[in-house]
Amino acid sequence: MIKALGYFIEIIRGGLITTRHFVVNLFYHILKVLGIKTKRKGSVTIQYPEQKKEIASRHRSLHRLMTRPDGKPRCVACMLCVTVCPSECIYVEAAEDPDPEIQKYPAKFIIDLGRCCFCGFCVEACPEDAIRMDTGNVEFAQYSQQDLIYDLDKLIG
Ligand code: SF4
Ligand code: SF4
Repeated sequence: MIKALGYFIEIIRGGLITTRHFVVNLFYHILKVLGIKTKRKGSVTIQYPEQKKEIASRHRSLHRLMTRPDGKPRCVACMLCVTVCPSECIYVEAAEDPDPEIQKYPAKFIIDLGRCCFCGFCVEACPEDAIRMDTGNVEFAQYSQQDLIYDLDKLIG
């Protein structure tokens, strides 16, 4: 009996919390509709895609490959990102660079974003700071899985 009463009290408490959030949010929505600005943030739904939320600087977004001053990829095809990637979605084909200082460059560099889990391990592992996930681009959904395969051109461009 006491246990059942405890459940009942918790159900009432939960209902009151939900009602409080509903009424408070409704109040702020009405103020917004009336064009009245308040200091409170986050209570009003962002009207995506017309409105966009500011992305935090540490957010992991679409990858990009960094380049050297001459436009060549900074990547030296060391395969560390390939090895560390838990989704096994990076493919790098190494080729010999005529510059003995560089030694190798990626003839092919492919990321299958359809499999990527955006863990950022590839960025952490890269010894050359050749790959970053700071584009701020989070809108790359595609209808075809094939279109989620990014090669050198797409990653550098
Ligand atoms: S973010 Fe993670 S899953 Fe995606 S390519 Fe990099 S290491 Fe792989
Ligand atoms: S992106 Fe970095 S970690 Fe990956 S192969 Fe190139 S140099 Fe190595």
